[in-house]
Parts: sequence; structure tokens; C-alpha cells
Amino acid sequence: MPEHETPARHHENEPETPVPVGRGWRSSRLVAVAVIVATLLGTGILAAVAQSISERQQRSLLAERVGELSAVLESYTAQVRTVLRSAGSVAVADPDAKLFATIVDDWTATTAEAVVAQRQGVAFVTIARSGIGTSELGAPVPVEVVEVARRALASDDMVSGFYDVGEAGRLVLALAVPGTPDAIAYLNIPVIGMTEAPTDPDSPYRELNASLYAADSPDPDKVFLVSGGTPSEDDKVSQEIAVGSETWLLDISAREPLVGTLAASFPWLVLGIGIVFALVLGLLVETLVRRRAYALRLVEERTRSLQEARLAAEKANKAKSEFLSRMSHELRTPLNAVLGFGQLLEIDDLTPDQADSVNQITKGGAHLLDLINEILEISQIEAGHLSMSPEAVQVSEVVEAAVSLLRPLADERSVHLIGGSDGGCNHYIFADRQRLKQILLNLVGNGIKYNRQGGSVSISCFEPTPGTLRIQVTDTGPGIPADKFDLLFEPFERLGAEQTSVPGTGVGLALARGLAEAMGGTLGVESTPGRGSTFWIEFPIVESPVRIFEEANQASVPAPVRDTLTVLHIEDNPANVELVERVLAQRPAVTVVPAMQGRMGVDLARRYQPVLILLDLNLVDLPGAEVLKILRDDPVTANIPVAIVSADAMPRQVQRLLSSGAIAYLTKPIDIHRLLEIVDEAVAGVTGQPAAERA
Ligand code: ADP
Repeated sequence: MPEHETPARHHENEPETPVPVGRGWRSSRLVAVAVIVATLLGTGILAAVAQSISERQQRSLLAERVGELSAVLESYTAQVRTVLRSAGSVAVADPDAKLFATIVDDWTATTAEAVVAQRQGVAFVTIARSGIGTSELGAPVPVEVVEVARRALASDDMVSGFYDVGEAGRLVLALAVPGTPDAIAYLNIPVIGMTEAPTDPDSPYRELNASLYAADSPDPDKVFLVSGGTPSEDDKVSQEIAVGSETWLLDISAREPLVGTLAASFPWLVLGIGIVFALVLGLLVETLVRRRAYALRLVEERTRSLQEARLAAEKANKAKSEFLSRMSHELRTPLNAVLGFGQLLEIDDLTPDQADSVNQITKGGAHLLDLINEILEISQIEAGHLSMSPEAVQVSEVVEAAVSLLRPLADERSVHLIGGSDGGCNHYIFADRQRLKQILLNLVGNGIKYNRQGGSVSISCFEPTPGTLRIQVTDTGPGIPADKFDLLFEPFERLGAEQTSVPGTGVGLALARGLAEAMGGTLGVESTPGRGSTFWIEFPIVESPVRIFEEANQASVPAPVRDTLTVLHIEDNPANVELVERVLAQRPAVTVVPAMQGRMGVDLARRYQPVLILLDLNLVDLPGAEVLKILRDDPVTANIPVAIVSADAMPRQVQRLLSSGAIAYLTKPIDIHRLLEIVDEAVAGVTGQPAAERA
């Protein structure tokens, strides 16, 4: 291996950790065996069915052949009978007549002998004969024939007899000559024994082994004809044949499969192919199962290492965010000093040069502070530390607040600021009011900053789908090409604006999107370069809390005011102010004094000495916790009970505020009954009478 080559290169295509194979190997074997067994079983059934079909076909063909053969044999014996009858009659009438020999000529030409004999006492004497044999005219017939001749006389029809002569056997077919009581005619035929079965296509014996017994049972002593070979015991077919007054037996079996060799071997073919197929399939399945198990294990391994990598990355990211967050805090303190002293210097009498320098310092400091604040928030979002106080917020109210804050900037740049007060924005959404305002300030601020002289920025709301509110900010600025949309939300990405005089940090949109998503909303953009852009946010619509309260309390009619006690409500969300006012209208003795900011709340508390202070934590100017501390530290307000009303329900937060002197902690959405209870207790604490009874 060359020195510079890293060992990792050798492992590019291999799993990083060895994957154990034992269990997967065994299970893949099992699956393969199961597949082989199942396939073999199927093949066996198929082969058995094919075998049974082939056998049935074979039997039916064999039965056809037996039929054919027995028809031939019956016709043969019927001819013998006819010949014997006429030959007998001719011979009895005129023993010297040549006609006898002519009649039997066809039958005696080869080996058989035709004889007509007359009974004389116990013997039969030959009166006519023809063919090859041992009988002589006037001589008695052989003693073996006598028995057959007697039976023939006693019978109406042809009879047969069988006897051995030395090695060979002979068959006698005998018939009583009609019209004469004691004459018989017979054919004495040498037993053919084993003959070659004819192979010509018309032969009934083709492809057959046949045994013909001159008896009604397969008597080996009475085999008249064996053609081809002895029929096999297993698959022979037997047929009885009528020969004169007797019944003979014909057994046949096929020498070759009558259905054809291919058809006969089809079941074996099926079985053979099935076995090969099962083995190949088994092998294939085993390979596949093994590969799959291996792949799955590999995926598992990779997923695990990816998860570990992700966790490590998340941890690192969190550490980064925490570091940034801490750094930002640390930077803010000296920066506040720089800005504070800079502002003090501005008040002094300075030369124009000095004033300009101080102005540069404070401007740069303010810019740096903005940047630090934004970085801090982004890092807090990423670390999941951003504190949120979501509640029902009336969108039109927040839009109006943002518009009025930005109007001076719009006027300065001659940009028309339109909308925000249309009916569409009257809906409520569930969001952190301050954060929502921050998003709108960024979007509307950008609309003003990145616009032309005399251009416009309009804010409107509508429902793109029922239940969702879209708040959109449309400007008449230069627009943004679609391929830059993703970059828009990258922190510090200014898309070239850094080369212009438009101030900015490039963090606003990233922060706005982070905030919108942290509140369960979405932020998007549409733009036509040269014509302008539309930035929008979408949130689910929620019910107005005031409406919910009113619907639940339709029946209760407030009683007239008789005496006045004050409850101070420090809250910057008008929707909540209105809700508390409506709720406390149930206690006519109580007047609610709202304060939209923390400092103002402290002043009003000193002035009014309320029976109770309801304090929201998420205020613009001062955090609620700080307001509480000021109230507690001031002897004038130290004894006024303070109940916290906040969307932040974190137990640690609740605990911290209760131990800082709050008498109760109400989480939003407000539990109306609990609120009334707290008010009643506070009133009773001052007057000795609950507020409800005073009304
Ligand atoms: P900043 O405005 O501080 O630069 P933002 O994150 O708000 O940072 O915006 C990022 C960049 O996106 C801007 O620098 C500007 O190039 C572009 N941009 C934002 N809003 C608009 C707009 N309404 N029209 C055109 N460009 C915009």
C-alpha cells in the first residue's frame, strides 16, 4: 500500500462493522428448505395427477385393443365352425367327394388337419380327411380326440379339446355333423405357442402381449396362443371370448405404452423438472433471503451510526448556539455602556467633528446591538431556548401597532403604507404577540427598505383555506428571482444589498421564519422580479377569547355599580385586556384599570392603590418579573397582592414568581372561575366581604 493511501479507502464497499451472520444464515436455510419441500410437494401432486390421467388413457386404449382382438378371434372361430359344418355334411353325404378337401383347403394348407369321423361303438373311424396330420381313412381317430368327439356329439355347438403330442400340443375344434347322429367333423391344429406379434400397423396384436386360453381361466396347460410375450400380471386386461359352446379367455397387456412414450413418461418428466426447479428455487431463495437479511442488518447499522452522527451534530449545534447565546449576553453589557456613554456625549457641547465621531460610534453601536440581539434570538431558537408566550392575539391590532411604528420610516422614504385595518385581519390567532409584531416589523420594514421612491407596501389578510389566516405584505420593490428564495432565509445573506446604502444585517428573515415556525406557523415568499414581492405568514385561526367568554355567560346580567374597587391589569395584549374587563364586569364593585406597559403599571399601582394587580409577564418595556420586583421593593406597593397571568406554564417559572411574592399564577387561556376567585379573595382581604356580595 502506498504510504499516502489511507486504510479507509480499502473499506469503501464494506460494512464498517462486521455484521454477524449466524442467525440470518440459519433462518435463510430454513426458508430455503421450506420452499424446496413445498415445491416438491406441488410437483409430486402434479406428477401423480399426470400419472393417473396417463394410466386411465392407457387402460381405455387397452380395452379398445382387447375389443378389436376378441372380435378377430370370434370371427376366426365362427369361420371354423361354418367350415366344419359344411365340410362335415359334404363328407357324410359323399366321403369320396373332392368337395371336402376344397372346403377345408384354406385351413389345412399350412399345419392343420381337417377330419370327419363316424362313431363305431366306442371308437370314431375317419371317413374323410385333409391337411397335414396322422389320421388315416378307415382308421380310428387318436384316443385324445375321442373324448372331444364325444362331447361334440353331445353338444349343439362347436367344442374344443387340448392335448400334448411329445413336445408340442394340439388343439381340436370339433362339431357334430348336422343331420347325422354319430358323425363329427374336427380341425386338429398344432398349438402355435410363442409367436412373434405382428408389427404392421393394421395388426390387432401390434404393441401387445397376448395369451389366448382354450378355457375360461388362465390355465397354463391350455394356452392356445401366446403372441409377443406373456401379458404382465400388473396391467393385463382380460376378455372372455365365445368359441362355439365354450368360453375362452384372452389376456393382453401393452408391450409399449399405448399413449405414446412421451405421454407415458410425462409424469416422470414433471417430477424430474420439479425436483430440479425446487433445488434451483431453494438455492435462489436462500441467496435472496440471506442477501436481504444482510442488507437489513447493514441498513440497521448505518441508521444507527447516522443517528449517532445526527445526535453528535445536534449536540455540537446546541453547544454552538449556547456559546453564541452566552457570548451575545456578554457582548451586550459592554455595548450598553458604549451606547449609554455615547448618548451622554451627544448631549455635551461638541465640535461638529466630534459630534460626527460620536454619532458614528452610537450608530455603529446601535447596529451592533441589533445584530447581537438577532443572533441571540436565532441561537435561542436553534437551541430551543426561546421563551414564548403564545395566546389568542387579534391580528388587526398587532398589524396596526407594527404599521404605526413603521410609518415614520415609510414617510421618510416616500413609500405609501396601506392596509392592516381591513376586516380580514380581525381574526384571532394563537401566537406570542411580541414575536408576531417582530415578524411583521421585519417584513413591512423590508418592504419599505427595498422599495422605490413613491412605491407602496400593503398589508392584507385572508383565509387561503378555511381555518387558516394568511397575513401578507406586498411591496412594489425590485422583486427577488425565484432561485434566490432559499438564500433569503440564510442568516447574514443579503443578496447583494450589502453593496447598497440600505442598512441591514441579513438576519431578519431567517429570524422571522424561525419565530413563525416556533409558534406553529409558516413564512413564505412570492415575487416577480421588477414588479415586487409578497412575503406572507400563515397561522391557524382561533376563537376570540372574549366571544368564548360571552357565549358561556350569556345569561348573567351585570348588576349596577354601587361602590368602586380597583383591579390593575398590566397587559399589552388588548384582547386579554378586553377579556378581563368582560369577566370582571361580573363583579360590578370592581373597576379594571388597564396598563399596556410595565412602567406605566407601576405608576398606576402607586397612584390607585388597587385591591389586586393582574400582571402579564411578556411586556414590551420591562419583563413582568422585573415589574413584580419593583412593586415588591416599593413600600407604597409592597402590600398590593399581585397575581401573574401568563401563557408560560413552565413549572420552574411558576415557582420562581410565586417565591418572588406573587399570590397566584394563572396560565392562559385564563380559567375565568379561578380569576373571579382570586379577585373575590383580594376584595375580601380589603373589605372583609367578597366582591360578589358587594355587588
Ligand atoms: P436585511 O434586510 O437586514 O438585509 P433580511 O434577512 O431581512 O436582512 O433580508 C435578507 C435579504 O433579502 C435582504 O438583504 C434583501 O437583499 C432581500 N430582501 C428582503 N426583503 C426584500 C424585499 N421585500 N424585496 C426585495 N428584497 C428583499
